[in-house]
Amino acid sequence: MPVRKRFGQHFLHDRGIIGRIVEQIAPQAGQRFLEIGPGRGALTFALLKVLPELEAIEIDRDLAAGLARDARAEGRLRLHVADALDADFVGLRGAGARLRIIGNLPYNISTPLLFRLIDQRSAIEDIHVMLQKEVVERMTARPGGKEYGRLSVMLAAYSRVQNLFDVGPGAFQPPPRVWSSVARLLPSAEPLFEIGDHAALRTVVTAAFSHRRKTLKNALQGLLDPSEIDSCGIDPASRPGVLEPAQFGQLALRWRRRQDAASIRTE
Ligand code: SAM
Repeated sequence: MPVRKRFGQHFLHDRGIIGRIVEQIAPQAGQRFLEIGPGRGALTFALLKVLPELEAIEIDRDLAAGLARDARAEGRLRLHVADALDADFVGLRGAGARLRIIGNLPYNISTPLLFRLIDQRSAIEDIHVMLQKEVVERMTARPGGKEYGRLSVMLAAYSRVQNLFDVGPGAFQPPPRVWSSVARLLPSAEPLFEIGDHAALRTVVTAAFSHRRKTLKNALQGLLDPSEIDSCGIDPASRPGVLEPAQFGQLALRWRRRQDAASIRTE
C-alpha cells in the first residue's frame, strides 16, 4: 500500500515504544477509546489486546479498508472513514462515558486538531498523542522560553499537559526527519483560571503573540490601554512571553469588560 505523504503517514513499528505508549494510557475494559489516524494499526491492535472494542477515525480509505479486513479486529473496531478535523466528538460520545482519545498524529494537523479537541472537551476524558517533539515543547512551555506562546497559553487554560517521553525517527517507517514526543492532556470542564470567555482569551493571546517582540502596550494597542493593562497588575512595558497563562486570563477579562461596557453605551 502506498505511503501517503499528504496524510503525514509514518507508521510506528518499534514494539518497545508501542508498549510504553500503551502502558502510559493504561487502558481498562469499560472505558471508551477513540483513536485518530490508526494507519496500519500499530496502536490499534496493541489496544485491542486489552480492550473489547475500539472506535477510530481514519482519513485514508485504503488504510481503513485494510484495518477492517484484518483478522485481529474481529469485528471489534468501529471505523469512521473521515477527516478528524471535522469530527463531532460530542456527537461521537453521545450519552455514554467520556472518550479517551489516542493518536500518533499527522504533524500537519496537530495544532488545529488539539484546538478542536479542547473546544469539545466536555466529551473527552483524556488525550494521549504522539506529536512532533517541538510541538510538545510548545504545548508544555513555561513563560520565559522561546517555545512559550499561543499554544502553551490556550492549552494551559483548559487542560493539564504532560510531556511523557521522546521517540526517535527510527521508531517509524518511513522515518520522519524530526523527533517526536508523547504527551498527555487532562482537559478540565471549567477553565483553570479566570478568562472572561473563550473568545476574549483567544483575542488577547493571539494579538499578544502576533507581536511577541513588542511590549504588551504596543502588541495590545486597540484592545487595551496601558492603564487597563496596569490595572491587571501587569507592567504594560513587559513582553508577552514573560506573562503567566493566568495573567493573560486577567487581560482577557479586562478586555471583555471593556467590550461589554462599549456595547451598553451603544444600545
Ligand atoms: N497510528 C498509526 C501508527 O502509529 O503507525 C499511523 C500514524 S501516521 C503518523 C498518521 C495517520 O493519521 C495515518 O494513518 C493517516 O492516514 C491518518 N490521518 C492523516 N490525516 C488525518 C485526518 N485529518 N483525519 C484522520 N486521520 C488522518
